[in-house]
This record gives sequence, C-alpha cells and structure tokens, in this order.
Amino acid sequence: MSSSVKDNYEAVIGLEVHAQLLTESKAFAPVSTEFGGSPNTQVTPLCLGHPGTLPVLNENLVRYIIKMGLATNCEISRKSIFARKNYFYPDLPKGYQISQYETPICHDGHIGITADGYDKEIGITRIHMEEDAGKSIHDQDPFNTLIDLNRAGVPLIEIVSEPDIRTPKEAYEYLKRIKQIVQYLEICDGNMEEGSLRCDANVSVRPKGREKFGTRTELKNMNSFRNVERAIQYEIDRQIELIESGGKVVQQTLLWDADKMKTRLMRTKEEAHDYRYFPEPDIPPVVVTDEMLEDIKADLPEMPDVRKQRFVEEFNMSSDDAQTLTEDRYLADYYEEVLAHTDSPKTVANLILTEVLRTLNDRSISIGEFPISADRLAGLVELRENDKINSSAMTEIFNAMLENDKSAEDLAEEMNLVQVSDTGFLEPIVDEVIEDHPDEVERYRDGKKGLLGFFIGQVMQRSQGKANPELVREMISERLEA
Ligand code: ADP
Ligand code: MG
Repeated sequence: MSSSVKDNYEAVIGLEVHAQLLTESKAFAPVSTEFGGSPNTQVTPLCLGHPGTLPVLNENLVRYIIKMGLATNCEISRKSIFARKNYFYPDLPKGYQISQYETPICHDGHIGITADGYDKEIGITRIHMEEDAGKSIHDQDPFNTLIDLNRAGVPLIEIVSEPDIRTPKEAYEYLKRIKQIVQYLEICDGNMEEGSLRCDANVSVRPKGREKFGTRTELKNMNSFRNVERAIQYEIDRQIELIESGGKVVQQTLLWDADKMKTRLMRTKEEAHDYRYFPEPDIPPVVVTDEMLEDIKADLPEMPDVRKQRFVEEFNMSSDDAQTLTEDRYLADYYEEVLAHTDSPKTVANLILTEVLRTLNDRSISIGEFPISADRLAGLVELRENDKINSSAMTEIFNAMLENDKSAEDLAEEMNLVQVSDTGFLEPIVDEVIEDHPDEVERYRDGKKGLLGFFIGQVMQRSQGKANPELVREMISERLEA
C-alpha cells in the first residue's frame, strides 16, 4: 500500500497500563509479595478464596496509588469503593477479582510527552486499584497446566488513558513516561519484560478530518516497549488495508506474536466477558482525608522535570544531557552518588553519558547491575581531574574496572598508565622524534602546521601512551617554532 493512501488516515490510540506495586504484602492479605518464591508458598486462605475469610485493605496500596494520581495531575476521589469483577479462570480461585469500577480513586489527569520533537499532553481517564490473579504455567509439565498462586492478590494499579494518542511513537513515549513516573515514585519497578508493567493498546483508524472514532481493536501480550510500538504500527496498517480493500474493522481482542511480528485473534466482542461487577461487600469505602493527602504530597520525591531543570542549573549541563541523565531515576541517582565522592560534575556526566551508557547498552543491563560502584568511578574521575592519567588511559582503566574490583589508582599503576608530566623525562623523547623526522620538520616550518599532531603521536607512542599530551603539544610547538 502506498504511503499516500496511509496519509489519508489517522490513528486513535488509548492505552491501559497495569503496574504491579512494590508493596511488601498483598493488597488484602498479610502475606509477602516477594517475587521468585517456590510456587504456592505465599498464599493464605484468603488468596485461595476460602469461605469465611475477610479481606483487609493494605494502606500502602492506597498511598501508592494516590502518589501516582498526584504525579499525573489527577483528581483524587475522597470516597471510592471496591467492586467485584466476576469471571472464571483456573488461576483465580475466588472466582472474582477485587477491583474498582464506577468510582476509581484517581481520575481526570494528564501527563506530558515529547515525541519526534513536539510536546503533547495525554489525558488520563482513570487510575484504579485492583489485585492480580495467579499464574498458569503451561510449559513445565507435558500433560498438565500448573497453577502458582503466589501472585494472586498482589496489588496492581490500572492506568487508563484518554484516546489522545495518535502514533505508535506517541504510545511508546507515553509508556516510557509512565515507567519513569512509577520509578521516580518507587511504587513499581517498571520492568515490562518481567511483567511488572503491562500494556494493552486500543487502536482504531479514521479518515483524516473525520471526528467520529472508528471501530477499535484491543492488542494484548506486548512485553516490551518496542513491541508496543511495533504491534500498534502493524495494527494501524492492517486496519487501513482492510478498509481500503472494502472490508470493515471488527471489534476484537488480538494477541501480538513477537516472533512472527504479527497479531492473531484472541476473541471477538461476542465472546467478551460480562464481568457482572457489583460493589465489594467485604471492604468498606476508601476515604481519603485532607490530612492523608497533605501527608502524601509532602512525601512526593523530586519528579523528573524538576530534577532535569536542577541538573541544568546546578551542574551547568545542556538540557539534552540533563534529559538523558534524569530519564532513568536510578541513573540520575548514580550520577549524584558519584558526585558525593568527587566534585567534577562535568567529567562525571561525560563519563556516564559515553562509557557507562555504552556499557549498559552493550550488555543489556540496567544501572543497578552496573559493575563499577559510584565511589570507584569517582576514583577514576579524580585521577583524570588531577592530570594523573590522560583521556585514553581513562577509557582503558574504565574497561579494566568493568572486569575486576580494583581501584582506578591501583589499575593505573598496574597498567603503567600514570601520566608523565615530567619535562626531564619527556625532553629526550621529543628531541629524538624531531631528529628522526627532518623532512616533517621542514614541511612543518614551511607552513604544514597540521603535522603537529603527527609529532605528538610519535612522542605518545615512544612514551607508551604515558606522556601528558597537553604538555607534549607545548614542548613540540616550542621546539619547532624556535
Ligand atoms: P474497556 O476496555 O473496558 O472497553 P473503555 O471503553 O473505557 O474500556 O476503553 C479502554 C481504552 O480504549 C481507553 O484507553 C480509551 O481511551 C480507548 N478507546 C476507546 N475508544 C477508542 C477508539 N475508538 N479507538 C481507540 N481507542 C479507544
Ligand atoms: Mg479494555
């Protein structure tokens, strides 16, 4: 299909994001939420839906969701209730999930995103509390599906956006923003690959200029940021092609297959659940007092935009650099931790923006898994700041530090990279280089000043990379100009 046909259409996208909260205990039962325990060791009669058990609301669930609501400019409902969402599934022993339906605790908010160079606001319809279901494991026993209920009852928040998103890129940026906010608030680790952040996308297309929305489909099973972008693009193209060939979009739920890079049908609208929501009779309404709200507001951390602005002002860095450093809360924390051990904000920022980010990228790891601790990195920066090593030695030592636990200082000695700024040592080398290259000397004196780099390179080589290049530059130009 030609791109001009596609240009006649506009996509409309709304995202539903589930974030698993980092509370220590479950939403309605005093049992651990820790990930990775042996199957079915973190369950109580309540998670199993035994009759006669009564849920008790975890206060932190309420605090965490209010934090999220405040950080996304939502109104906070002073009184909201829980509802039962009824359906049958093997990993849902109660036969219903406790959720919120008519009165979400947070609603009518918005967040800002930047996509392809423009800024835009995306509306947040609602954010509500609910509990997770258990896990069905299909790939461990050849004949049976196994059930692990450790996850049953783990608290989630669901963040529903307005249909304000228009491109896959905007959806990607919106999701990144949500991840950034939950990480800054420390309410969710934001890991999509591990399922602590999950996203469903509602997608429709309409001819440009038409106000009425088209029929939407819902995409599930996209377990990475890139897959969300890809799946939405695939679905937009599919819908346009379908309409252009005379067909009609049918409301259905589709699963993204990351291997085949396409979607497949999960269910049609007729097969959709009727959840028969009704108010949860066992949990009293959630009442948010002024006092509670003030207390939570006072507890909010410095948010990414504010931190970025502070980095620009306090460390005199470009807005782009500040953006990159504050994008990931833990990277920004690392930066400030290094600065607690050395006061060279510029050198530290440069090192993180180049070598550290490159390493994270190459190894596909997060800053939390980065092997050089903040104080060790500060040690490396100190060596450079005090002119003990030159910049190429800094990179060499950095690479060595990735592989062992030694200090930068020890490695500089061991690798024989301590820079020589001693003119007494360098002078004979400079003399030697000049003597060995009479032709170059003549050409330099005839005006080929670019040869300076050649002479510096020769001295660096003969000093085994240890000479202070600045000093060598001075010494050589002095000699050649003489
Ligand atoms: P449900 O999934 O329960 O049917 P909603 O109808 O409230 O929930 O919509 C869920 C999501 O779908 C929201 O994020 C909303 O913005 C989005 N949405 C609604 N209508 C459309 C549409 N025509 N095209 C794309 N997204 C839509
Ligand atoms: Mg939905």
